[in-house]
Amino acid sequence: MKSSSVEQLILDLYAQHSTEEAHFTAQEVYHHIKPRLPSVNQSTIYRALERMTRAGKVSVSDMGLGAAVYEAVGNEHHHHLVCQECGRVQTIKDESVGRLFRQIERENNFEVLTNHLVLFGRCHACRSKSDPD
Ligand SMILES: [Zn+2]
Ligand SMILES: [Zn+2]
Repeated sequence: MKSSSVEQLILDLYAQHSTEEAHFTAQEVYHHIKPRLPSVNQSTIYRALERMTRAGKVSVSDMGLGAAVYEAVGNEHHHHLVCQECGRVQTIKDESVGRLFRQIERENNFEVLTNHLVLFGRCHACRSKSDPD
């Protein structure tokens, strides 16, 4: 089996989902790809994802799910706010985070390569439940 065909199937998988949806663990990618490529095994998927991450086609992040989450690197960067209580994930645009990164780069003479930031906290609903005011 050609590794390039696995990569193509993974890219197709991302193309079929919206930015919001297209966050998959290696396990989820495997379950999506398996029906289309029955000979594939989990380590092939894992290696393909690693290779695509190094090539900058995919980004990997910890979204508090216990497993790394992979997503295609699109043209539009975005970030997430994850509620630790209910697990709700909000997607935010790069504008304010990008500004912060540029400032950090200037102040520290450091090039930030992180392109997908996940911040953990408590969402509006959970906050109003626990401290009503
Ligand atoms: Zn994301
Ligand atoms: Zn919440």
